[in-house]
Amino acid sequence: MRLSRYFLPVSKESPADAQIISHKLMLRAGLIRQTAAGIYTWLPLGYRVLRKIEQIVREEQDRAGAIELLMPTMQSAELWRQSGRYDAYGPEMLRIKDRHDREMLFGPTAEEVITSVFRDSARSYRDLPRTLYNIQWKFRDEVRPRFGVMRGREFLMKDAYSFDMDETGARHSYNRMFVAYLNTFARMGLRAIPMQADTGPIGGDLSHEFIVLAPTGESDVFYHSNWEKPAALTDVDFDDVDGLRSIVGGYTADYAATDEKRDEAREAEAGDALRQSRGVEVGHIFYFGTKYSSAMGMKVQASDGSEVIPHMGSYGIGVSRLVGAIIEASHDDAGIIWPESVAPYKVGLINMRADHEGCAAACDDLYRKLEAAGVEVLYDDRDERGGAKFATMDVIGLPWQIVVGPKGLERDVVELKNRATGEKIELSASDALAKMAQRATA
Ligand code: ATP
Ligand code: MG
Repeated sequence: MRLSRYFLPVSKESPADAQIISHKLMLRAGLIRQTAAGIYTWLPLGYRVLRKIEQIVREEQDRAGAIELLMPTMQSAELWRQSGRYDAYGPEMLRIKDRHDREMLFGPTAEEVITSVFRDSARSYRDLPRTLYNIQWKFRDEVRPRFGVMRGREFLMKDAYSFDMDETGARHSYNRMFVAYLNTFARMGLRAIPMQADTGPIGGDLSHEFIVLAPTGESDVFYHSNWEKPAALTDVDFDDVDGLRSIVGGYTADYAATDEKRDEAREAEAGDALRQSRGVEVGHIFYFGTKYSSAMGMKVQASDGSEVIPHMGSYGIGVSRLVGAIIEASHDDAGIIWPESVAPYKVGLINMRADHEGCAAACDDLYRKLEAAGVEVLYDDRDERGGAKFATMDVIGLPWQIVVGPKGLERDVVELKNRATGEKIELSASDALAKMAQRATA
């Protein structure tokens, strides 16, 4: 993409109404614009990041055996009356009437929809277990929307729902999602710590919030220092029940809990290794037994002919919140530093002198070759000062910058800068191309 033809409204000023760094940077870097309180337009650059995150979430859900579908944003009150939640849900639910005076709502979550869909077609044990998910916009009329996309009113969520014949099966479905979440966040360069969370009236130990440490986070968290090591991908057979159980057991061996679930004994055990911090909840997994399936009259036939009420769990990821969480975890004074896996473009190509014939020709040539090699490149071909171009590239945080200037061209070199480390090397344009092409296919 040529910047001269793009829509990238960056701004130099630090927006006054933004309190945390990720919100400030998202506005400055031209990723989002607020349309109403807690409601945002995703500008082209921000939308690319959102889609990359969404795709990683999707791939890891698929790998874990979950099946994608798409449920509507608008739901009927009638469905929520079946589960008994319509009156209980409270003012966070946006309630709307259609032209026939029928009560509707903008879905804050989708347990009722998925339970009714599955109930109407699952007949027997052969139809289970299944985990279904969608990536869809949600609306919650938050009392205090703030911190940009971190606590919006309209936000993008991945929500998955598992159906099993019994609790043992449900526990395996839960473990699948647990490991899928570890891999999902690791691929985004995040260390998200699974923390024991409240299960409410269901009880038991099957609720974890996945929390990214950040001083600006809204949750108070306590954890063992072992969690500070970088996140690693877990290579796993998702059908291996015992294997998954032991992976999850291994991860939960180190203490980590949110404020509501602190455990004095385990904190004493951790001793000097106990850490306290604040964090951002990027995911939440939850087993709730037959709460919705029994309220909504769902039954399936077991292999011995008896009738069984399926056990369910639900599993959320804050897809749009993750954009903010990643920036909180990865930035410096100059701007955002995107991990390569979610970067909107891999490379920023900077022409230092748009009015210089040699520079323009060398840049145009490199741009074409990068695109042909499948490297996502944003080419700053504008007629601007070099300093302004550097500042723009730094604030939008593309992982690599290639700088082409007249002095370098005399020696047949361009400069390649690593945004994260600041390291700069000189090399030929064709070597820069080869290096980027290699990273694009890696
Ligand atoms: P929170 O405690 O932050 O209000 P929650 O526990 O109500 O979140 P869940 O119902 O568990 O949220 O939703 C699943 C995920 O959706 C959360 O882990 C979070 O990442 C994301 N999420 C929830 N509310 C919002 C919001 N208002 N804006 C952006 N993302 C959100
Ligand atoms: Mg939650």
